[in-house]
Amino acid sequence: MAQNSSATHEVLNQSPPFEDVDLFALDRPLVDAVAVNGGAAAEQELSRFGQHWGSAAMATRGRLANENTPRLRTFDARGNRRDEVEFHPAYHELMAHSAHAGIHNSTWNAQGKPAGGAAELVRAAKFYMAAQVETGHLCPITMTRASVAALAAQPDVLASTMPVIATRSYDPAFAPWWTKRGMTLGMGMTEKQGGTDVRSNMTRATRDGDGYRITGHKWFMSAPMCDAFLVLAQADQGLSCFFMPRFAPDGSVNAIHFQRLKDKLGNRSNASSEVEFENAYAMPVGDEGKGIRTIIQMVQLTRQDCAIASVGLMRSGLAHALHHARHRSVFQKHLADQPLMQAVLSDMALHVEASVALVMRLCRSFDRAPDQASEAAFMRLLTPAIKYWVCKSAPGFLYEAMECLGGNGYVEEGILARHYRESPVNAIWEGSGNVMCLDVLRALSREAEAAAVLQELADEVSGLPGAREAVAFIGQAFRRPDSERVARLAVERLALLSATAALNGVMPRHAELFAATRLAGNHAGMYGAVDLANSDISGLLARALP
Ligand SMILES: Cc1cc2nc3c(=O)[nH]c(=O)nc-3n(C[C@H](O)[C@H](O)[C@H](O)COP(=O)(O)OP(=O)(O)OC[C@H]3O[C@@H](n4cnc5c(N)ncnc54)[C@H](O)[C@@H]3O)c2cc1C
Repeated sequence: MAQNSSATHEVLNQSPPFEDVDLFALDRPLVDAVAVNGGAAAEQELSRFGQHWGSAAMATRGRLANENTPRLRTFDARGNRRDEVEFHPAYHELMAHSAHAGIHNSTWNAQGKPAGGAAELVRAAKFYMAAQVETGHLCPITMTRASVAALAAQPDVLASTMPVIATRSYDPAFAPWWTKRGMTLGMGMTEKQGGTDVRSNMTRATRDGDGYRITGHKWFMSAPMCDAFLVLAQADQGLSCFFMPRFAPDGSVNAIHFQRLKDKLGNRSNASSEVEFENAYAMPVGDEGKGIRTIIQMVQLTRQDCAIASVGLMRSGLAHALHHARHRSVFQKHLADQPLMQAVLSDMALHVEASVALVMRLCRSFDRAPDQASEAAFMRLLTPAIKYWVCKSAPGFLYEAMECLGGNGYVEEGILARHYRESPVNAIWEGSGNVMCLDVLRALSREAEAAAVLQELADEVSGLPGAREAVAFIGQAFRRPDSERVARLAVERLALLSATAALNGVMPRHAELFAATRLAGNHAGMYGAVDLANSDISGLLARALP
């Protein structure tokens, strides 16, 4: 019989795809962190979400949206300006699925006030699971939900937009926002000469009747097909915040002219533009001269999401690594049964378990901040510290996760290469690392409030290895006259301390391991360079992926 000359071998010893799984139920650290922080009632809703987002169909959408990147159509064939960005249908489908689940608005009620209960926590769990599948589209999703906090400074704009923001529909039509079934919002702060230092903004705003006309440029403005942007510009009274819609009130296309799209390392399904405003129409948000105070309300929430998404990326890396190691044999033994691989995977599981406990604890403080001063203080001090530590740990973590899959981890057909390229951006945007550390120092200037948060953390970790020394170190470092110079040292310790405390509320034995390997001693540069008992290794791995 003729042999098929291409059939040189059978495909053996490869792991099956990690798809058609329940991203919630399989993630014991998440299930427990949600329950401990007040979200137990949402378990079924989250499991339905986890099954949907864990499906092979959603994974395919994520891949397609990144392989077929957005394109700017500046002009039409006749030379008329279009300023439209075209996305692959998979991107629009991801947007629709996220909007349907309320990730872009469920923390607000119909009036744009905090929804209360465990709304932050439940939405965060969804955001974390969605980030495991596709993070690029989450940029406009996160900005839309965060924009409501800034719009609160301008009740008339909030009241008119909220009915459109509050729907669970995604409407990609390029049309005036007030005619649409749903809308998305972005933000424009960063200019060529200054991103962190927004006071150096050169964009000018001049009054024109009830509105303003804005002229200038933005060096980064992501998700350019949003229906409106919150932008900063210099008005007579100083830097001010504005609501700039894609269409002017008379229905004409607003003068928002995209120059080009950034060619980015990751985050490729999402478009990030360079843009010129040429006498573009805008409405004020908040008082003139109070632009930073207004937009910072939005930025506080996008920072929270950066941390959640980074943990989601790491969780995905861990789950894929563990799944692969349980199927792949090397030297007649599954990788998952090799002692050295167990050391690596369990140490990674410990990092993710602490990180997920930490961000869910942070989200509890967002839920409770409107009614509890102590939770508001926790949120203010720890949001920048957590964004700093969690986001900056993600690239190194994902590199290790890729390596667990060997060569397969490095190729673009798998999701880990994409996660790896995606991971640095959460540390860079919405306030880069040093800026977060300076923010912690700023929050510490409210001395009594910060001392109370530190004391609460100290009580929660009392008796754990290295905890007392860490508390003392943090207190001293922040009191030093040169505290800025040692801010990274102190902020990292503060994040580790709060992660230990959060994990202690979920899984005390693992908090002890975390404290022993991260607080009592400096964790080595590599995962797995720790000495954990076999019983702890199997406990960590069983919780990470049953
Ligand atoms: C993919 C992508 C999308 C983006 N989308 C948007 C968007 O939609 N809208 C928008 O407004 N911006 C956007 N940005 C811009 C982003 O927020 C800025 O790049 C970021 O805030 C840093 O600003 P910068 O690039 O001007 O760097 P700089 O402000 O020049 O900072 C450079 C470095 O200096 C450090 N630094 C700054 N100040 C100090 C200090 N006092 N002491 C010590 N170190 C300091 C920073 O931590 C950073 O590491 C986007 C960026 C990226 C990469």
